[in-house]
Amino acid sequence: MRDLIRKAETTHKLEKEELVLLLKDNAYQEELFKAADRVRHQYVGDAIYLRGLIEFSNICKNNCCYCGLRRDNRKLNRYRLSLQDIVDVAQKGKALGLKTIVLQSGEDLFFSKDKLVEIIKAIKSLGLALTLSIGEKSKDEYLAYKSAGADRFLLRIETTDKSLYQKLDPGMDWNERKICLDNIKAAGLEVGSGCLVGLPEQTVSSLADDILFFKQIDADMIGIGPFIPHADTPLAKCSAGSFDLSLKVMALTRLLLPDINIPATTAMETLEKDGQIKALQSGANVLMPNITPDIYRKFYQLYPGKSDTNCASNTLLTDFESKFKKIGRVVSSDYGSSLHFKHKNLNKDINNFD
Ligand code: SAH
Ligand code: SF4
Repeated sequence: MRDLIRKAETTHKLEKEELVLLLKDNAYQEELFKAADRVRHQYVGDAIYLRGLIEFSNICKNNCCYCGLRRDNRKLNRYRLSLQDIVDVAQKGKALGLKTIVLQSGEDLFFSKDKLVEIIKAIKSLGLALTLSIGEKSKDEYLAYKSAGADRFLLRIETTDKSLYQKLDPGMDWNERKICLDNIKAAGLEVGSGCLVGLPEQTVSSLADDILFFKQIDADMIGIGPFIPHADTPLAKCSAGSFDLSLKVMALTRLLLPDINIPATTAMETLEKDGQIKALQSGANVLMPNITPDIYRKFYQLYPGKSDTNCASNTLLTDFESKFKKIGRVVSSDYGSSLHFKHKNLNKDINNFD
């Protein structure tokens, strides 16, 4: 196991079988986490990027079996923020010292291409970086978001096990989702993806495929979180994913994709106290404090018990600064674009120059 960890740390390459061995092993996992922490330090440094998350609509046309926002969940009060509210919340995020806003929602058709372009332009005029996490769109829409000023797009593949995906995401198509990721990249946006860990019937072998998939699509950011069952979904009775396994998938992702951005996800904190600190010490370098207005936050129920340790307060920045100081880290005052994205574009420019 030690040899495999060393190989991953020095070459950033592992075969599928090697990934499976490391994912199955529990005896050496602390060494794996430490190696991921060293690679994080070496490639992306000790600064942590904060992103202000605005959950602007919990209305969704899709029916993903794991998600509390699925359209068949009639028990949920639905909301959507007005265009002006969204921009006001972004402004508040800026006043708190945040440099990036992440706009996330269900797939809500009310937010047409034109409406989103208007919102993107308004947020960009505040001098903030902008990430979108709003689901599957057409190539033309991704291009329009980019032209309006959006910088990044998050779309988790959820699982690379196609037959599991077809079962858990009825009416959706894995190949379509992959095409969306290609189109996000072609539009010139930073590409974020990721997976759920611990879905029913998901195997360790398919998690190894997920990690290789992230490398194959040349991702700039990867978010990994344990599956947490929601009572008002078809997966209510399934057990939650394991925190340790999620952390192993994340640490291996850092080892194989050394210069990308990796968030310590809220689902990790929800499953385990100080889960995000542990994640930040095992490869992660990003945190996404929630700045959604209080009155709506409780209705954005992807899964139950969503941790609110990261919710906005007036002292957000100083709170994080003192929390991170204890683990030898600092809050970045930079926009925090993916270094991987910057490296790729630099290489492209050099090749064009040739
Ligand atoms: N609608 C958009 C963005 C919102 S959902 C989309 O689907 O891309 C954001 C993420 O929440 C999903 O990608 C999924 O990985 C995660 N999620 C949904 N239900 C979850 C659950 N029960 N446990 C953990 N994460 C969940
Ligand atoms: Fe909708 Fe996203 Fe939830 Fe699927 S995961 S139901 S697309 S909000």
